[in-house]
Amino acid sequence: METSYDAIVVGAGPAGSSAAILLARAGWSVALIEASPFPRRKVCGECIAASNLPLLETLGIGPALRQRAGPELRRVALWCGEESITAALPASADGYPPWGLALGREHLDLLLLEQARATGATVLQPCTVAAIHGETHGAGYAVAAATGGGARLLLRAPVVIRAHGSWQPPPVDGTALSRERRPADLLGFKATFRNAALECGLLPVLALPGGYGGMVVASDGLATLACCIRRDRLAACRRDGARPAARAGEAVEALLRRECGLVREALAGAARVGPWLAAGPIRPGVRVASRDGTFLVGNAAGEVHPIIGEGISMALQSAWLLCEELAGSADAFRRDERGEIWRRQIQQRYASRWRSHFSRRMRLAACFAHTAMRPGVAAPLLPLLRVVPALLGIAARASGKTRAAVTLPAAALPGVIQGSPP
Ligand SMILES: Cc1cc2nc3c(=O)[nH]c(=O)nc-3n(C[C@H](O)[C@H](O)[C@H](O)COP(=O)(O)OP(=O)(O)OC[C@H]3O[C@@H](n4cnc5c(N)ncnc54)[C@H](O)[C@@H]3O)c2cc1C
Repeated sequence: METSYDAIVVGAGPAGSSAAILLARAGWSVALIEASPFPRRKVCGECIAASNLPLLETLGIGPALRQRAGPELRRVALWCGEESITAALPASADGYPPWGLALGREHLDLLLLEQARATGATVLQPCTVAAIHGETHGAGYAVAAATGGGARLLLRAPVVIRAHGSWQPPPVDGTALSRERRPADLLGFKATFRNAALECGLLPVLALPGGYGGMVVASDGLATLACCIRRDRLAACRRDGARPAARAGEAVEALLRRECGLVREALAGAARVGPWLAAGPIRPGVRVASRDGTFLVGNAAGEVHPIIGEGISMALQSAWLLCEELAGSADAFRRDERGEIWRRQIQQRYASRWRSHFSRRMRLAACFAHTAMRPGVAAPLLPLLRVVPALLGIAARASGKTRAAVTLPAAALPGVIQGSPP
């Protein structure tokens, strides 16, 4: 097996696989390293905003995505207590295709990973990156990894893209992630239900004390229910519940049924398919500017509160922004000894574009999340939303649902991204 590549991508979620596809298409030799075997279910609401569909088409998975995904998402609702306020979702600004979709992550992530392999990336899976070390004189990086069978690998590349998400400890590189448990930590949960009484194409956002969530009909007519709950709220539910020993997911389901009348109705005749999944704590915040010269995309670069369902958008689009900056510079990295300077220049341009596209939606999402979790703040807004439900659609538009951070030239459908050396 080769041990030297132009780029090593750590993590094959939507950010990592799309970066691998784009760089492999641009002629780079790429290793894509993923810790989990696929297909795997993942904590996620599974909604893909319409603005991403042209990108996914260009990445080469459009037909398979459309075949597997649930119905077009045309309406949004706010479910709060016993109340529902509904509005039309805004259509995509480009008009093609106008509406978002929901697709199980066991399908989406597998489609993208297989596309990366088909495009020429070397896929190492299951294989966990343990450490990333900068080499002397800024020449590149040595990446230490272990396969599922226990074999140890050492790979080298001038470019390392960290797409490992934000919920697992990142590979060791000298910056340890704080593992302190805080009462306000938000834990993520997701379960899938058969025969849920949920209108097709409706995307309800749930607001409840100490948490928020969403529900949608995704692949195979199954409904996905996903939410974030504060650690202290969950602990209180498990302490006070009729069955204190219930697993965390079951306590969450009981909480959602109790707090939200429409969830209770939707699940009345439904059967859960598989166990509840849990993840987190989620780590909202911006981390795009790495100090070690590696590049961060997706949740690793910045995590948005999932209340606006834009994490997949930011994963795909941040990978795209970075690859637009990188594409075209592979030869330069191969022959130039000043890799450090190249990396710094690309890093600055990428981080600045990242911030200009995503910072506003991150602030908005934080504002929506903290409002939804606090009944004292949310309650005074409900009378306004009852009179002007269209505000929900305006909030969806402001969250970035209708416009991608990257503009595809018509010729790029389906094609390759163009890039020029810095
Ligand atoms: C409750 C909830 C609901 C959500 N709902 C939505 C929604 O409806 N729509 C939406 O757009 N977003 C939603 N999100 C957010 C979305 O799931 C994430 O933003 C998205 O998955 C980020 O993609 P990523 O590629 O950056 O990371 P991930 O999808 O987390 O992928 C990272 C990958 O890296 C691998 N990895 C990690 N460490 C290593 C290592 N050391 N070595 C090798 N591999 C490694 C992991 O196994 C994983 O496969 C939701 C999130 C939550 C918590």
